[in-house]
Amino acid sequence: MRTSSAALLVLLPSVFAIPLGEAPSLRLDVTLSRVEDTRIKAVVKNVGSEDVTFVHINFFKDTAPVKKVALFQHDDSEIAFEGVEKLFKSSGLTEDVLTSLAPGDVYEDEFDVASTSNLSKGGHVTLHAVGRVPVVENSTITGSMPFKSNKLVIDVDGPKASKVAAAMKTMHKRTTVESCPSNDKQSALTTALQNAAYIASQAADAAESGPDVRFQEYFGTTDSETRGIVAARLRAAAAEASSTTFGQTSYYCYDVDEWCSPNVLAWTTQTTNTIANCDLYYTDIPPLTSVCHDQDQATTTLHELTHAPGVYNPGTEDFGYGYDAVAALSPDNALNNADTYSLFANAVYLNC
Ligand SMILES: [Zn+2]
Repeated sequence: MRTSSAALLVLLPSVFAIPLGEAPSLRLDVTLSRVEDTRIKAVVKNVGSEDVTFVHINFFKDTAPVKKVALFQHDDSEIAFEGVEKLFKSSGLTEDVLTSLAPGDVYEDEFDVASTSNLSKGGHVTLHAVGRVPVVENSTITGSMPFKSNKLVIDVDGPKASKVAAAMKTMHKRTTVESCPSNDKQSALTTALQNAAYIASQAADAAESGPDVRFQEYFGTTDSETRGIVAARLRAAAAEASSTTFGQTSYYCYDVDEWCSPNVLAWTTQTTNTIANCDLYYTDIPPLTSVCHDQDQATTTLHELTHAPGVYNPGTEDFGYGYDAVAALSPDNALNNADTYSLFANAVYLNC
């Protein structure tokens, strides 16, 4: 990949399966309705039986252009999301990114889906949100809970939708390669890329020919085709990480487009194959952890690399963060979930 000093990054929406053994007491229902044109209201309700606190980054209430709902055309094909995917830390989370709801409590969010997807074709568009949000206790992610919305069908006026301002205005030219303005950050990123290349390559070997039990633990299957796809995506990420001058992504050592916010480690924008690190990446997580299921710079970088469709198409989404959520995903979602790859690589590297 190219490294540079500026970039765009985004998080995608999620779709998850209800895991076995799910505690029925934790659950959010989302009711989607149309405000006007492509402007949508979401009412999020705690339909469980317990008070709950969760991270709302990449979820309803996040003010950045994150993926809150998936959009489908009448033929069920998904409409591309053109916003940002953010990856956040798992402990020491600050209050501003947390939402607490008592049983029966609700909150609302409004957003315009035409600002993060090209809806100029118009016609019937189905909106749906499903996934898992991280549950927090004492500022630390301790698990996850499912959320699910109604399926809302809206009739989109294409010309009108195309007049909605795109959220991502600062698209960088793919050819622009700038150097990192900080020697310390450049050095940390270079090390992280080397480490990411190493652990991704090792994880690719494990996906191809490692023990069934670990692969099953993370990907929910031992199907040979799935193992092949996982290995191929990890090899592509390793190849991308092994060069700072060639590749399909632009990797910025700093928050070039200002999508970082408190608690966010890094971001990616799939439409431009751009990745950027936030300051927290350098201060909050180690280069390479020796703790199973923990975050570090190498696996954060690997997480982001798997998002980029230029590295391996399709780019992954964010269906769940952290070991608990990852272990609860369906095989289909696990295969396309960024954190599943970084946690699998961590497990292979540390022999968890
Ligand atoms: Zn992500």
